[in-house]
Amino acid sequence: MAEKKINNLRKNINEVDASIVKLLAERRKLSKKVVETKEENDKPIRDLEREKKLLSKIISLGKKSGLDSHYVSKIFYDILEDSIRLQQKHFQSSFFDNGTDVIRVAIQGIDGSYSSLAAKKFFAQFEKEIIFITKKRFDEVAKEVEEGRADFALLPIENTTSGGINEVYDLLLHTTLSIVGEEIYQVKHCLVGTKDSTIGKLKKIYAHYQAASQCDKFLSTLPNCAVEYFADTAMSVQKIEEENNPEFGAIASEDAANLFNVKILQKGIANQEENYTRFIVCSRKTQDIDFRIPAKVSLVMATAHTSGSLVNALTVFKTHNVNMGKLESRPILGNPWEEMFYVDFDGNIKDQRIQDMLDELGIHTRFLKVLGCYPSRDITKAKLIHLHEENKETNEQKIAEPEPKKKKAIKRSYKLASREYKPEDTIIKVRDVEIGGDNFIVIAGPCSVESHDQVFACAREVRENGGQILRGGCFKPRTSPYSFQGMGFEGLDELEAAGNKYDLPIITEVLAPEQVFDVAKQADILQIGARNMQNFSLLKEVGKTHRPVMLKRGMMSSIDELLNAAEYILAQGNRQVILCERGIRTFETATRNTLDLGVIPFLREMTHLPIIVDPSHAIGVRDKITPLAKAAKVVGAHGIMVEFHPDPPSALSDADQALTFEQYKNLMDELDRL
Ligand code: PEP
Ligand code: MN
Repeated sequence: MAEKKINNLRKNINEVDASIVKLLAERRKLSKKVVETKEENDKPIRDLEREKKLLSKIISLGKKSGLDSHYVSKIFYDILEDSIRLQQKHFQSSFFDNGTDVIRVAIQGIDGSYSSLAAKKFFAQFEKEIIFITKKRFDEVAKEVEEGRADFALLPIENTTSGGINEVYDLLLHTTLSIVGEEIYQVKHCLVGTKDSTIGKLKKIYAHYQAASQCDKFLSTLPNCAVEYFADTAMSVQKIEEENNPEFGAIASEDAANLFNVKILQKGIANQEENYTRFIVCSRKTQDIDFRIPAKVSLVMATAHTSGSLVNALTVFKTHNVNMGKLESRPILGNPWEEMFYVDFDGNIKDQRIQDMLDELGIHTRFLKVLGCYPSRDITKAKLIHLHEENKETNEQKIAEPEPKKKKAIKRSYKLASREYKPEDTIIKVRDVEIGGDNFIVIAGPCSVESHDQVFACAREVRENGGQILRGGCFKPRTSPYSFQGMGFEGLDELEAAGNKYDLPIITEVLAPEQVFDVAKQADILQIGARNMQNFSLLKEVGKTHRPVMLKRGMMSSIDELLNAAEYILAQGNRQVILCERGIRTFETATRNTLDLGVIPFLREMTHLPIIVDPSHAIGVRDKITPLAKAAKVVGAHGIMVEFHPDPPSALSDADQALTFEQYKNLMDELDRL
């Protein structure tokens, strides 16, 4: 009897479920129509006010029908999320369409990892088969996309319990990829074991360090159990399955446990039940986001060295009425006690208001790189209502008046290098040395680093006779391929050690894009030589580093070309460029090149960047260098760079122009008297 009754009730439930599914499909069709109609009428697609009203209406309706508000809002959050995905899909599907039925997604970890689950969630809307390209490290994941073996990379960026994922933040600084999407995934950690395991039997738990830190309260209840870190959650499950030892457990998702057919010993072991990870989707191309969907921009910046510069930078967001969602700081490698700031804010990069804000922000930063513009996903259920409140104002403004105040456009082919863009002098600080403004500095050292003794003797000379920066070429651009090509990284090690011993920042030339990253680890300033002034791929590469760059004027280049070359570096994000006049080719043969001092007052007017004069390469003979160096100071340069050698005749490069130590000392005395 009871059996029959239950069967009947079940039948009724099945019918209700079928109607729910039908109604959901119906709702989806309707919201699709809304998107299409709104698009035809050029109306904003998302109506956050309506979403908020809808939710409160539904909640009160639910209450009347005996359903609690948490339950109703949870379900309707998912329903609203589905509509948002639908809208985003509508505007983004052409971007994500690679012309095939499959999409290649690079992830860290294996199938079953949280990254793979988040990728499945994100890409489900584009109805393509996903081929995972699985890698052990985050940098390898980015490389797969950079080198074209994958279409997209999906990387975890932050977790609501354990915070930012540092390796991914650091990776974003150097990658050429752009963020084109985000996904929020609810992480539900379980303790798993093999079929004969029980919690009591466990002696060792394999876990990803992030997972372990998110479950550390639970783990502390198992004092006899050691935790061994593992690169990936799903891989730790694979490991216990392979080892098949009841004393070994792992922390992983329920899906990973099911995929590998292991036993779930306990569910919900995370410190916080509401545990979400935000993932970013990266691509080689940047994405154009339609004005009618809410968008977000991520950037990374380093503020100027002056006090209060972070406050000044953050004030720019406020004065432009831009809603900042996130601020995360990371130390800058090689610059102790200095930090890069990662910022997320609401806005569309195509919006003139946002462009104006970025321009102003650039003035307060020495590094500024936009990481991407992408449609924003609503954050967490808990934040839903709150977020709507916050977004309301900026969203309405953004859509109703996308182009407010017009700023006078800078017409030149270079903008960031110009005085019009930044009226005050740029002052670049390297260790304790300030380059630019009212300072006059001296960079000195050998043309090439030749040996330990040679470069240490030179460094000592700089320290004792008042120079500020030690120079030395390790990769030499020689006219003849048979001439000495420099000591390479071995020379750089010596230069670095000499700089450290005598507490001098070092500058050295980079010749090729593939060297830049490694040279930037050791050198305080990167030099681009005259022969490479228009090597645009090299300029772009140094533009991605956080090291100041000294750009030497090409021997056949106008100052307009010099400033445009500087713009290549600045536009990549690196706002620390020093210009160098080192002589140009004319019909004159008495001098190695013709030092063009006449351009210094022009450059001082045209640009805010510091300008250094190199009389050594201009004149080419040692006893004519001093008068030119003095002239450079008088005419308004921010410093000079000269070459010297402990034994000039034996120098392996540019022997004729190398000053003796004696001559260098006299030069410094004469400069002091000016
Ligand atoms: C140098 O400074 O060592 C050098 C090679 O200079 P330039 O590029 O000006 O010839
Ligand atoms: Mn030289």
